[in-house]
Amino acid sequence: MCLAFVGGEMKIVDMSHDLSMLTPFWAGNPEFNFTILKRNNTAGGFWYESNAFQTAEHGGTHLDSPSHFYQGSWRTQDIPIKNLFGPGVVINVTDKVLTNPDYRVKTSDLTHWEANYGRIPRNAVVIMNSGWQYKFPNKNSVFNTSDAEDPSTYHFPGWHEKAVQWLVDNRKVNIIGVDTPSTDYGQSKLFPVHVILGRHQISGLENVANLDNVPTHGAIIYAPVVKLYDGSGGPARVFATYDDAAVVCSASRTSLGISFVLLLQCVIFLVG
Ligand SMILES: [Zn+2]
Repeated sequence: MCLAFVGGEMKIVDMSHDLSMLTPFWAGNPEFNFTILKRNNTAGGFWYESNAFQTAEHGGTHLDSPSHFYQGSWRTQDIPIKNLFGPGVVINVTDKVLTNPDYRVKTSDLTHWEANYGRIPRNAVVIMNSGWQYKFPNKNSVFNTSDAEDPSTYHFPGWHEKAVQWLVDNRKVNIIGVDTPSTDYGQSKLFPVHVILGRHQISGLENVANLDNVPTHGAIIYAPVVKLYDGSGGPARVFATYDDAAVVCSASRTSLGISFVLLLQCVIFLVG
C-alpha cells in the first residue's frame, strides 16, 4: 500500500450536474431556456451548430458570490481566482439526514472530521455530503416537497450558522458548499449562513454532485464560476483532483504508530 507514496495516479472527479431544461430552480426564478440557432450542414460543406441559452444565476451546480446576501461584498467578477479553489474537506452527514431531512451541519461534525483527518487546511473548500445528489433532477425530490412553488414547504439539509461561524472564527476557508439547493437548510427563513458567508467574503457552492467519488480529505476542489460581470453568482463546472495513492496511504493512517510502520515499509521497499 505504501508503494503509493512513490507511484500515484492523478484522478479527476466531475462534481457538476448538467445545466438543462430539467434543472430544478427555486420558486420565482425564470425558466431556463435553450434555443438551437443552427445545427446543420452548411453550403460550405462543414457542420455548424450554435445555441443561445438563458439562465437564472442560482440553479444547477453554481456558486453564490459573497454579494448574494451582503451588500458591498464581492460580486462574481470580483472574486480573486485564488479564492475559487482549495483543499477539499467533505463532511459526510448522510446517516443523519436519513432520519432528519432538516439536518444542519454542526460544529461537532467539523471537530469529528478533524479528529480523523487533522486540522482543516488553510483556504479549504468545505462541502456537506448529505446524499442529496441522487434526487436530481426531480424538482419535488430535490426540494423535498409536494409543492415546489412554495418555498415554505422545502425540507432539505444545509449548514447550521454556528458551524459556519466556527469555521470563520477558527479556520480559514475559501468556500463552503452543499449538495442541496441552499447552504441554509430548506426551512430557513432568514438565511443566516448566506449572510455570514457574504460578510466574510466566502463563496457558497450549491447543488454539488458526485461527492461520493471525492475523497473525504486529500483532494483539491475547483469552483470555476463563469466570470459574470456584476453577478451575484453563476453556473460553475465544479471538479476535484487527487492523487489516489496519497489518499489511500493517508486514509489508512489510523494512528501515528501504524503510520510509522507504513513509513518503515516504504523505506524497506525503496532500499530493497
Ligand atoms: Zn445560490
